[in-house]
Amino acid sequence: MSELKRFKNYMDGQWFDASTNETFEQRNPAKLSEVTGLFPFSSKDDTLKIIESAQKAFSDWKAISPAKRADYLRSVLVLMVQRKDEISKIITLENGKIISDSLSEVNSAINEMGFQINEGLRLFGETIPVSIEEVFAYTVKEPLGVVSVISPWNFPFNVPVRKITPALMAGNTCVFKPASLTPQTGYILAKLFDDAGIPAGVFNMLTGSGNEVGNIIVSDPRIKAVSFTGSTEVGMEILKKTAIYATRTQLELGGKNATVILEDTDIDSAIKDVIRAAFACSGQWCTSTSRVIVVKKVAQEFTEKLVEATNSIIVGNGFDKKAGMGPVCGASQVETIMKYIEIGKKEGAKLLAGGNRVTNNDFQDGCFIEPTIFGYVNQNMKIAQEEIFGPVLSIITVENLEEAIEVSNDIKYGLCSSIYTNNINHAMRFIEQTEVGLTHVNLMTSFKEPQLPFGGIKESGVGLPEAGKTGIEFFIKYKTVYMKYT
Ligand code: NAP
Ligand code: MG
Repeated sequence: MSELKRFKNYMDGQWFDASTNETFEQRNPAKLSEVTGLFPFSSKDDTLKIIESAQKAFSDWKAISPAKRADYLRSVLVLMVQRKDEISKIITLENGKIISDSLSEVNSAINEMGFQINEGLRLFGETIPVSIEEVFAYTVKEPLGVVSVISPWNFPFNVPVRKITPALMAGNTCVFKPASLTPQTGYILAKLFDDAGIPAGVFNMLTGSGNEVGNIIVSDPRIKAVSFTGSTEVGMEILKKTAIYATRTQLELGGKNATVILEDTDIDSAIKDVIRAAFACSGQWCTSTSRVIVVKKVAQEFTEKLVEATNSIIVGNGFDKKAGMGPVCGASQVETIMKYIEIGKKEGAKLLAGGNRVTNNDFQDGCFIEPTIFGYVNQNMKIAQEEIFGPVLSIITVENLEEAIEVSNDIKYGLCSSIYTNNINHAMRFIEQTEVGLTHVNLMTSFKEPQLPFGGIKESGVGLPEAGKTGIEFFIKYKTVYMKYT
């Protein structure tokens, strides 16, 4: 057996092991016996040092012009484009998603980065007339200081890029902790910054546990902003800690996203979208559709066709070009998802497709679950209310648009939603009343582009949305200047 590759933390422009020399393993979700690498299990000391390194680099990075910062980040972007395939392979290796989806993730990251670099060149202030003569008043946007970025395993590349780029363009320095299920994707991102020659300490990355490393980088008073994407549970705990020093906080959290199907739509094209939104990345996009709310009139036709399309999805290793859906990300995901499938059965929902692990031949050692559909789901069932974060879709039948809106909103989450209809009145009514951060008409719940804001409401999000113009706004503070010039 060849020796396992050992990866390092990136701090102050150098690569380091954990000071305790401890490591943790990452395993391929398609084949759990395969350890993909060993990663630093960073200690409290390592974490404090890394914050120190970012702190030391801050004043110089703040002082250089946004144009020069853009030059550095464009060099990172060039490498990202060159290494697209390599990065995609690491994402599939660690996360399991099919390779074409990993490539889409990298392409999204490239677009997000390009957009945010340019936004960083437009840190415009205002000049504002005041009531006394010969006083010039204006505003400037300034960086906050050291910011921390914590990312999940489902978009292990795109999510951190979307946060780190505006953070750095605004003149902040950054400490980044990737999810422990996808540490090599974090490493490969740090490698881009290092190879592009980013000044030491501006960007730092360390791996380790959420409870130790994550906890410190949200609690330390030197951290001036926290941008977190992950579960609602962890996010809400972070909010309590960042409250202590009034640290600016942005949380992108869980979802239970609904797609509404009305009778006046093209069922076949709606189904194509629902299949993608429900089962791409094995239903582990935060924007995945996990509830379909369909009006009675077309419920039977829609359900039959959806089940047929679902049964034709080929589950397989993400590197296999024939696979339409890869494994879920890790043993603990398998356990949670299978638990919810059992709950759904016990609650009286009708299993219409899937429902099992895939364990034959090549798959017995992996985290494969069939794409699963429950019909006759009641709004009060757990499977209709809780985030499963897996390839499990619930179909809820309703009488009409009013009931569809009511059911779609009757939930603690508010990330995204979608409606399929050709009736403009119905679409507008839905847009007005849907309680989410982003909504769609005749497009899947997951559709998004970098130039528009992205963020949830209710228990799906806190603080300014990422991306768009708010992406960089989160990472700056205003200074108001009054200057008497006589
Ligand atoms: P998670 O368990 O909340 O972990 C997210 C990140 O937080 C990981 O890096 C984790 O580190 C770290 N962490 C864990 N405990 C922490 C603590 N006490 N303090 C600070 N950091 C801590 O979420 P996940 O399981 O990775 O991701 C799935 C969740 O993310 C789902 O709920 C999904 O909906 C949500 N999500 C939301 C969006 C969005 O934009 N709204 C996007 C993607 C995902 P370790 O890995 O070391 O535990
Ligand atoms: Mg977790």
